[in-house]
Amino acid sequence: MKPLADAQREVLSAVGPRDPVRMSLWDALGAVLAADVTAPHDVPPFANSAMDGYAVRAADTTDAPVELRVVEDVAAGHVATTSVEPGTAIKIMTGAPLPDGADAVLEVEATEPGDGRVRILATAPPGNHVRPAGGDVARGTRVFSVGTRLRPAHLGVLSTLGVATPLVFEPPRVALMSTGDEVLPPETEALEPGRIRDANRPLLAGLLRRLGVEFLDLGIVPDDAALLRETLLRAAGECDVIVTSGGVSMGEYDLVKQVLAALGDVDLWRVAMKPAKPFAFGTVAGTPLFGLPGNPVSVLVAFEQFLRPALLTMMGANAIFRPRVRGTLAEPVDSDPEKVVFLRVVLSYVDDDWVVSLAGGQSSNVLSAAAAADALAVVPVGVGSLDAGDRVELEMIHWPESRTRAEVLDG
Ligand code: AMP
Ligand code: MG
Repeated sequence: MKPLADAQREVLSAVGPRDPVRMSLWDALGAVLAADVTAPHDVPPFANSAMDGYAVRAADTTDAPVELRVVEDVAAGHVATTSVEPGTAIKIMTGAPLPDGADAVLEVEATEPGDGRVRILATAPPGNHVRPAGGDVARGTRVFSVGTRLRPAHLGVLSTLGVATPLVFEPPRVALMSTGDEVLPPETEALEPGRIRDANRPLLAGLLRRLGVEFLDLGIVPDDAALLRETLLRAAGECDVIVTSGGVSMGEYDLVKQVLAALGDVDLWRVAMKPAKPFAFGTVAGTPLFGLPGNPVSVLVAFEQFLRPALLTMMGANAIFRPRVRGTLAEPVDSDPEKVVFLRVVLSYVDDDWVVSLAGGQSSNVLSAAAAADALAVVPVGVGSLDAGDRVELEMIHWPESRTRAEVLDG
């Protein structure tokens, strides 16, 4: 068996960041910057008011309460045509540019507006409620670096800077196929004896979509060598990564294995991990191929350990593995000292600690337990079992939401 760390090293050494492309901000969530972003101008671009109130000369307010003459009104999006002279004020709305002559804003709550005048009730020090030009980002500074994976706030900042089509690493397009004579599409109404519906393509489609990766769905390929070969070649021609499931274990009908051996430069691995021990990796006509096992939980775990980090690498990301936290087992668990075992677990947060319970059956076909799981508990090689109260590392595949609406309404 190949140690998991060696398998991950081999996979990651075979892939690298793809070429940069310009991508619309509207599509760029999850994409990774291929160039540093430098601010072409200050943000905010001009000094402006942080409050609705009155733009004043701070010196005019030192003897508050005082009365000032109101010479103009300025709303956001407009520029005052007069300046604030001694003894005067300009009524100003949040976001409006600070008028010439003014160096402070007094919030409306600290004033008593009158007819063409305003009574200033408090002293405003210079800069009071003023957002200076460049106070968020100063022109010329590096805002984001290469390798930043774009989250919603990044998209907002880029828009602010006028970067409508940031340069990102082109995400790979993935060809997706399930294999096996027994596998039928989800729309199948009545299952004939011996047949099952496809769990793996919807599962993988969801995993890919969440990563921001597009895929070409090549459907279900029956156990037919010629068809499989044809589909793999089409996948290699049209996509940047090929993902199959099924057909890579020891069975006689494990055709994927045989076809791949004839077709490409693919190795069949037995990785010291559970689930997802059998795993094919290599290239078909130069395109990287990930031959995942057939059992759906193995697909999920192999995706997490191999495919996700590889895709994030191709997308140019710096950090490519899930965050890990530690928790405490609520029950004893069995493991396999020869392998890294990924248990599907549910978590609850009690007294500043994650409390860890099995999410259900731990066989590699029990996808319902994986669906319930918040994390993969990682039990390392050399450990045959763990007791209740033992600490485990948790790879977070789903941060659970916390409070319910009812909890809020009940106060
Ligand atoms: P295989 O490696 O092809 O022998 O598949 C291992 C197990 O996974 C068998 O029980 C298959 O029926 C099952 N399996 C393979 N592909 C899928 C799929 N797309 N959806 C659900 N189960 C599958
Ligand atoms: Mg099969």
